[in-house]
Amino acid sequence: MYRYNEPDVQSVSRATSPRERERLAAASSPIEETLDPADWESFRAAAHHMLDVMIDFQRDVREQPVWRPVPDVVEARYREHAPHAGAGLDAAIADFETMVLPYPTGTPHPRFWGWAGGTGSPTGMLADLLASGMNALQGNFNDAAARVEAQALDWMKEAFEYPRAAGGIVVSGGSVANFVGLAVARDSSVDYDVGTDGVGAAAGRLVLYASTEVHSSVFKAAKLLGLGRNAVHLINVDAAYRLQIPELIARIEQDRRDGLRPFAIVGTAGTINTGSIDDLEALADLAAAEGLWFHVDGAIGAMAALSPETRDLVRGMNRADSLAFDFHKWMYVNYEAGCVIIRDADALRRTFAAGGDYITPLPRGPGSLLDAAVGRGPQQSSAFKALKVWLTLKEHGFDKFGRLVAQNVAQARYLAARLDASTVLERVAPVALNVVAFRARVPGASGAAADEVNRELLMRLQESGTAVPSGTVLNGQFVLRTCICNHRTRRADLDALVEAAETEARALMSD
Ligand SMILES: *Cc1c(COP(=O)(O)O)cnc(C)c1O
Repeated sequence: MYRYNEPDVQSVSRATSPRERERLAAASSPIEETLDPADWESFRAAAHHMLDVMIDFQRDVREQPVWRPVPDVVEARYREHAPHAGAGLDAAIADFETMVLPYPTGTPHPRFWGWAGGTGSPTGMLADLLASGMNALQGNFNDAAARVEAQALDWMKEAFEYPRAAGGIVVSGGSVANFVGLAVARDSSVDYDVGTDGVGAAAGRLVLYASTEVHSSVFKAAKLLGLGRNAVHLINVDAAYRLQIPELIARIEQDRRDGLRPFAIVGTAGTINTGSIDDLEALADLAAAEGLWFHVDGAIGAMAALSPETRDLVRGMNRADSLAFDFHKWMYVNYEAGCVIIRDADALRRTFAAGGDYITPLPRGPGSLLDAAVGRGPQQSSAFKALKVWLTLKEHGFDKFGRLVAQNVAQARYLAARLDASTVLERVAPVALNVVAFRARVPGASGAAADEVNRELLMRLQESGTAVPSGTVLNGQFVLRTCICNHRTRRADLDALVEAAETEARALMSD
């Protein structure tokens, strides 16, 4: 066996001067580089400068346009070739300040209500710095990050009335959370090992159910799970955009008669288009009666459970076999952070158990938890996303988040009332939660012409920097919608939206 021969440090140091040793070391070893700064004090100064810049950015965000386009001169710089020699930290930071920071999506702004964008928070920003500074891997190792994630999961189980023993994982967002939930649903629905033999071995095509308002990530999940998009059988909604249960019951019966294999029902708590909430209690009853997995996509609306004022809206959510939700939407956690809770922790493990000699846990040491983490989701290495959830919850407490959720719901109702009083704009859907859909009235215009006016109205609002709603189609009509996952919004901001939209709409119609 080869034995490394320990050098005799004593004799070497006696035999040579320090300078001679340095010369010998330099001659015998290659240049060894590092990414550490040559001078930690100038790094410290640059870092403090950036922290100040970002604190000012947060504090003064209201004074900025919500969004502004990237100008051509800046755009051109994004076509520069790859740097082979570095320009140094100061130059790189200067580029960030001129090329990146002035052109945000706009989510931190009090008048950003597009899609389901969440505001983030100053503490969330800090938490990402801390997590990144530790360069911690979430959940995979026997370390503090695993404890933080587990505790954050426990707190969410408590908030959503799930048993402590339930499984779960903090993931990148609602899409992955839906994917994980439906993967476990699929694997739990057949009596063989899907992971080994694939979906093709199932007797009868696996199908699941959701309303026509379901989020596209459920289709994506169906595709990735080998079920195919057409495996998502869509059930019509009622006038309040909620899944029609009698139609669902009939469809399940029909599918069974046709030799298909129903395995899951997806209920949505807070649809992306209108914020509608399916009758989760009734869906839970039906899933139980039919022996189907019940998954809830609560990406937006799960947080309604945090306030006593809105909790009843999501009654039945705690009966789901799997619940997907986003921290980065209505819990205002900085991107990205989502979560899925799976009632049966073993079922989650069965789906994602990976194995491999390189992750076989030892009884002690940093690797002693390895399989536990790798066995909970599709990722192996994962950023320490739970820290920002944990830190902001410690700072503010659940009650504060509940109050903010209720505040956003009250603001949505306020906006609805303002729209209902407008002669220029009209609200086009009931307001169940924090989403308000509306459009400009375009008297006498065809559907296509009215849609064109509303598309133009939306773009003008966004480009003016006043507000960022987003668009969608309801009942075949293009509409604008605001989704208020925003702790900075004040009622005056909604007044500003209505006034700007009325002014632009009038201008458009006189064009
Ligand atoms: C946003 C959203 C998703 C997807 O979540 P991401 O965090 O964007 O991946 C899924 N379902 C609904 C209802 C959503 O609003």
